[in-house]
Amino acid sequence: MGILDWISQSAKKLKDVESQIGEETKDVYEVYQRNVVLEREIAQRTEELRLANQTLLTLEQVWDMMNSSRPLSSVLETIVSSLYGEFGYIYSFIAQKEYDEQGSYYALKTYLENDFALGLAKLTDSNVFDFKLNPIENGTIENSIKEKEISYYVSLKSFIEENVPKADQEKAEKFVQDNEVKTIIIFPISVYNQFSGFLSVFSPRKELKDDELSFLNLFARQIELAITIANLFETVKKQAVTDHLTNLFNRRFFEDALHREATRSLRTKQPFCLIGLDLDHLKKINDTYGHSMGDKAIATIASVINKTSRSVDVPSRYGGEEFFIILPGINAQGGVAAAERLRTSIEQAEVEGLPEGITASLGVASFIEQTTNIDELFEMCDKAMYSSKQKGRNQVTLADTDNKTSWQDIAIDAFVDILTQHRIPFNKNLAAELIQKLQIKQQDSSGTSSQEMLFSIVDAISKSYFPLYQDGSTKNKVALATLIAKRLNLQKSEVDKLKIAMLLYDIGNTMMPKDIMKKAAPLNKDEQEEIQKHPIVGAQEILKPIGSVSSIIPIIEQHHENWDGSGYPNNKKGKEIPITSQIILIVDSYFAMISYRPYRKAYTVDEAIEEIKANANKKYSPELVEAFIYAIDEFKKM
Ligand code: GH3
Ligand code: MG
Repeated sequence: MGILDWISQSAKKLKDVESQIGEETKDVYEVYQRNVVLEREIAQRTEELRLANQTLLTLEQVWDMMNSSRPLSSVLETIVSSLYGEFGYIYSFIAQKEYDEQGSYYALKTYLENDFALGLAKLTDSNVFDFKLNPIENGTIENSIKEKEISYYVSLKSFIEENVPKADQEKAEKFVQDNEVKTIIIFPISVYNQFSGFLSVFSPRKELKDDELSFLNLFARQIELAITIANLFETVKKQAVTDHLTNLFNRRFFEDALHREATRSLRTKQPFCLIGLDLDHLKKINDTYGHSMGDKAIATIASVINKTSRSVDVPSRYGGEEFFIILPGINAQGGVAAAERLRTSIEQAEVEGLPEGITASLGVASFIEQTTNIDELFEMCDKAMYSSKQKGRNQVTLADTDNKTSWQDIAIDAFVDILTQHRIPFNKNLAAELIQKLQIKQQDSSGTSSQEMLFSIVDAISKSYFPLYQDGSTKNKVALATLIAKRLNLQKSEVDKLKIAMLLYDIGNTMMPKDIMKKAAPLNKDEQEEIQKHPIVGAQEILKPIGSVSSIIPIIEQHHENWDGSGYPNNKKGKEIPITSQIILIVDSYFAMISYRPYRKAYTVDEAIEEIKANANKKYSPELVEAFIYAIDEFKKM
């Protein structure tokens, strides 16, 4: 009988009983007697209904949880504790079959850490978490699992005798005496290839009603379902962290893994290595044999990378034809050897249908040995890879530790200077706080990203003059600008300058009149003219005194010049304008468009892209618009 049927039947019985009470009778004594019987029956039915309702509620809770993508352990824990608390059982746990050198045993997978659990574990002098059950062969538990049937122990004593052979006799006797357990019910749980074990429930009652049993059985099925669902979630999660063309990990997973590995490495003082790899002359393959041959070349490289990777490595596709591999526990020397093996294997690989072979250029950098900062590690590896290209491709280069001032270091120095020298009007306390953050970062070796810290500082400064500035925008802007620059084949040194400029291009706005900056309506002509001074103010007044950023001053001065000469401040046009300035302009316009303003709605992404396309040959060069469209596609995948 299903639970719902059970409830409706109980409700019906209750109604019948109630209607009988109302019946007219003449004999008062008879009425009295009948009422006593009826009242007893009502109480009994009400109790049945209450239990049925509670059962339903609990099942509903469990079901909700399973749909909420909470981790399996937490779902199982709730299942087990609801049995314990609400149904008056003394203890319950889920055990899973595991193996060690001595053979198989059952480990407590989900359990409650109550006194009973502690007492049970103490029988073999263990903790709850490493307590093992060693059922005798052909005993109750083994049979239950084999036959897929519920079974019982009629005493705690027999349960211990069968499953805890190493129990201390004296302790066991006392434990049995101290606890009121009368029945132990075993429900086998098995999920194909994933889980074999059982749910056990320790009841203080000798008899178990059919309803109770069918309810517990339902619970056991819920547990199986929870495990199945959790496995599905794992599969889905794995799909989301791999790249569909190559099956390697994707960029997001790689970045997380790099953080994790750095943290672990700093804790354990074990090095790890990063190998960067870029396919040589892919453009030529695309152009000569078509894009699908290019895809095949990428897939071939990926399969070589996969074959040469150990299970602990993290081989990832970072972008189109760029790969990174994290090699835990490997130092610089080992990393170079691994990269060299990879290079040779790629050289020897055949791409089906491609008459010539393929090659790749690789860079290697080593964490702890060469740096303890992951941004720097990444930059060094990237630089090394670039240097392999310059030296003629198809080779491995180890990162150069001498020349490693990163763009982040330059940017950090610039912000420290701006804030300590009060070059912009900024709340003094907040400035002191930011300076401290920046200075700590310079000596920091926690492996966390100085890049992230810089983004948050720019977010904070931007919000001080423009309250609508959204947290996180800086990070997105830099990411999009970098994608465009890579698409346009900018040299690494130019990309670095662009990244610094992306953090500083609007710094001149801090000096603009506050009432104009915060105005909730479109600006009039005078106001526009005033605001148009911000590139020059930023470049000349704020940044000029800071020597280390001199090379980005022209970039910032010209970030509002348009391709057709209609921009400001100097009406420069075409190739006169640095490409980096044009990239800033297009990225800045895009993010402005998709943001809300008090006097207009936010554009949708598609509307913004259309607007940018409409400005090809006007505000932007056609090549830039093409690169933007490619980059925005990649950006959406990040
Ligand atoms: P280099 O040796 O300097 O790396 O030359 P290259 O031609 O490989 O590199 P470049 O950076 O000049 O161009 C990369 C090309 O790779 C341009 C881009 O269209 C192509 N590409 C990027 N992703 C994919 C992809 O997924 N499939 C295909 N077929 N081509 C891609
Ligand atoms: Mg390439």
